[in-house]
Amino acid sequence: MKQLSIEYLNSGDFIQKLSDVKVWCDSNHFSNKIFQIYSEVLDPEVLRRVCGDIEKVFPDTPYMGCSTSGNIIDCRLAGKITAVCTVFELPSTRARIFSYDLSKESVDNITKAIVEETEKNQWVKAIEMFFTIPEGSTTRFCEGLKNIRTDIQVFGGVACSDDITSDDSCVFSGASEVSDKSIIIIFYGGSDFYVDSINVTGWKPLGRKFHVTKSKGSILQELDGIPAYDVYHKYLNIKNDENFFYNTLEFPLFYEHNDTTILRTPVASNADGSITVTSDIDVGSVVRISYGDPGTILESIRNDSKRICEFGPDLLHIFSCAARRTFWTSKEPTYEIQSFKEISSSSGFFSHGEFLRTGGNLNQHNVTLVIAAMREGEKKASGLTAVSIDENSLSKVPLVSRLATFISVTSLELEETNKRLELANEKLKTAAVSDGLTRLYNRKEIQIRIGKALDAIRTKRFSLVMLDIDNFKCVNDTYGHQEGDAVIIGLSDILRDEKAVCQQKSVSGRWGGEEFMILLYDTEVSAAYTAAERIRQRFTDTDFPKSGNQTISLGVTQVRTDDTLDTLCTRVDEALYKAKQTGKNKAVVI
Ligand code: GH3
Ligand code: MG
Ligand code: MG
Repeated sequence: MKQLSIEYLNSGDFIQKLSDVKVWCDSNHFSNKIFQIYSEVLDPEVLRRVCGDIEKVFPDTPYMGCSTSGNIIDCRLAGKITAVCTVFELPSTRARIFSYDLSKESVDNITKAIVEETEKNQWVKAIEMFFTIPEGSTTRFCEGLKNIRTDIQVFGGVACSDDITSDDSCVFSGASEVSDKSIIIIFYGGSDFYVDSINVTGWKPLGRKFHVTKSKGSILQELDGIPAYDVYHKYLNIKNDENFFYNTLEFPLFYEHNDTTILRTPVASNADGSITVTSDIDVGSVVRISYGDPGTILESIRNDSKRICEFGPDLLHIFSCAARRTFWTSKEPTYEIQSFKEISSSSGFFSHGEFLRTGGNLNQHNVTLVIAAMREGEKKASGLTAVSIDENSLSKVPLVSRLATFISVTSLELEETNKRLELANEKLKTAAVSDGLTRLYNRKEIQIRIGKALDAIRTKRFSLVMLDIDNFKCVNDTYGHQEGDAVIIGLSDILRDEKAVCQQKSVSGRWGGEEFMILLYDTEVSAAYTAAERIRQRFTDTDFPKSGNQTISLGVTQVRTDDTLDTLCTRVDEALYKAKQTGKNKAVVI
């Protein structure tokens, strides 16, 4: 594969340069090629002229183009309108361009059509995508492409304009008009075509976590229940003014989704305290504010470039977020990617969003650098194992990086301490209300609950069941205290099983020794008696290791309007006493 780039200055000059390319292609017998046009100019008139000139000189060559926030050729910023001719040197390599109009077709239909095309065209190995700036989120689109063959790589970018805060963008192709609501995709493949793709962020999470508690599409409403803007204001002192976009650019939100790291940049703060971000973040996501630090970013680029070096490409397609260009204000716009030139030729653009499929999932990224490496045939050894980077910015770790490490480590420590405290607190709370042996409620807690049920007596009736193991002293004396404990635990397991106790809501507690109390909410005495009998039966059927089958006696009563805690408990105790007096292993109602 080879690429030739031509800058568009005016029609005459462009046609001349195109003709030179044509002569070169013809003399080398390269008939298989496509054109890609990257344009910082959005004027449809101008773009139509560019397309017309290409059609004139290359009538049968497919082409597509998109608006950008800067064009990249060989890792340098190129002219405002630049056409790239990609020439395939091997006859087996194929490329096809498709265009989908978002104003006419639904996202679901488009993704379905793309999936169908990939099934029809088994030669496809990669899909390159160019989107106009979407109105809502691209999640549905990304989800829709989940089912394409797992070996197909997917990458691309969202068209942009030189004003990265504006929503202006367009795409166009030989088969479609200049459109501000379309998707253009290119299929690449063939038996000698190889492709690999990576993404690099370099932005690192900073400090504490926030839970997304309210969001709608690209509008992030609340983090941890407070307006999202307040988080940026409180933690970074970023004001709600005309500089909001530029001030937050260095601090995008960072979260994990589909097993990959996603960044979202706040683009506007709204009157209701919400912020608009570059694409959607689902409720339930755990996000952190992240920061960009030159040394860390360059180090990430060096690390991630290893895979591209190993791949040995003919050429690279680069989709770099326009925010990254803005980040390196004091450097050249392509500062961070310049050394990729050492690997191979490249083309691409500064985008509004970047697409990459990883682990089978397609994601729309922001503040990210996506690089697709392509080649025909054998690896092209560049002799590099990784790209070289500006050592000066690495050797002295800047203050911001040290402070960021400090914040991250201290907040991690705080998080861990909080987690331990929460756990200890939870344990303390449980210990205060429960019985150590049976883990049922203790007597104090069950009394409190009966007291509360008594407070609501006018609207809700309830019943009590009190039970006691029969001849339990005998179990202890004959088989030992441990067996006695096993019998008590066996009984409490039955009481914990709601089905055994009652279909209604109930709570059980250990009243003392081998005596238990069950509070059955909203239960008439007849149902309470049925529950008591069910428990008795279950217990009688239980076979204990040494002591075999044991029995219980139960007292049952329903609350009366004039009951106090004392009268009620005395009455249920009397019922139990009566069960004991009249032969045990039975339930008695009073
Ligand atoms: P009854 O049928 O009249 O209830 O006879 P009983 O032998 O069960 O009566 P009693 O209330 O006199 O005996 C209860 C025994 O339960 C006495 C006590 O040692 C024993 N006990 C109390 N708590 C525990 C415990 O946590 N574990 C064990 N193994 N025994 C306990
Ligand atoms: Mg007993
Ligand atoms: Mg007893």
